[in-house]
Amino acid sequence: MIDVLPAGAAGDVAATVRPVEAGVPTLDVRDLGASRGDGVFETIGVIGGHPQALDAHLARLAGSAALLDLPAPHEEQWRHAVRIAAASLPADRQGGLKVVITRGIEGTGTPTGWIVAAPASGDFAERETGVRVVTLDRGYSSDVARRAPWLLAGAKTLSYAVNMAAQREARRRGADDVVFLSSDGYVMEAPTATVILRLGDRIVTPRTDIGVLPGTSQLSVFAFAAGLGLRTEEALLPAAALLKADACWLVSSVRLAAPVTHVDGTAVPVDLELTRAMNAALLAREE
Ligand code: PLP
Repeated sequence: MIDVLPAGAAGDVAATVRPVEAGVPTLDVRDLGASRGDGVFETIGVIGGHPQALDAHLARLAGSAALLDLPAPHEEQWRHAVRIAAASLPADRQGGLKVVITRGIEGTGTPTGWIVAAPASGDFAERETGVRVVTLDRGYSSDVARRAPWLLAGAKTLSYAVNMAAQREARRRGADDVVFLSSDGYVMEAPTATVILRLGDRIVTPRTDIGVLPGTSQLSVFAFAAGLGLRTEEALLPAAALLKADACWLVSSVRLAAPVTHVDGTAVPVDLELTRAMNAALLAREE
């Protein structure tokens, strides 16, 4: 684990980054990240000891912090800390970093920051075997971000209890994962992934202004797809698009692209060739 101390305006960035043995108690129980889930995070994939898509993750971290009125993260400090954390992982295994900034200990006004580095636990079989999803109503309409910005739709906050509850509901229904729908019937995102569809020669993902997280993996998939000559597009996607699509994926930073095999129990087409090419491109990403 890497403890990241407040950097101040400039200062010696390296001196603010302190490796700590995982398992050694370091978080103060009065921290608002622990007691209220009041903070933001990023999960960054690590391949061969290098963080992937670091610029995109740091940009989103700053965006989430701004939405929560947290001080802007010191970019150089976090870049430095992320590189140290990534290099601490075995170079021959895939892994991930969880980068966290909380509002800090109540009353201090000083954020707390840390990074947990961990080798990947699974074998990522779902990149080949795919996932069965159920659609669940998220309870928000597609204009939630504009109508109720205090709900922080589109920020990557520490409050993931609802997302985890949705995944448990999926398992109760015999599925692996969830696609959230807006209350007015549009495809939003998965609890920990972006939804991408292939509709003919178009690669389409839900518009982020409906209150979903802008995905870093989705950005990489779009760059890859554009290179293949496919059209890429953000759109309002009615729930029925999930059943009409020529292929559908859940994409995220560590799992990468998992093809969707079933939607609410109905088998849907899988494009294994494109999935494999997509995952090869995602694995090949540099910092
Ligand atoms: N949407 C949500 C709600 C997520 O939690 C995540 C990642 O954890 C994503 C989308 C995918 O984002 P990324 O591709 O940057 O990992």
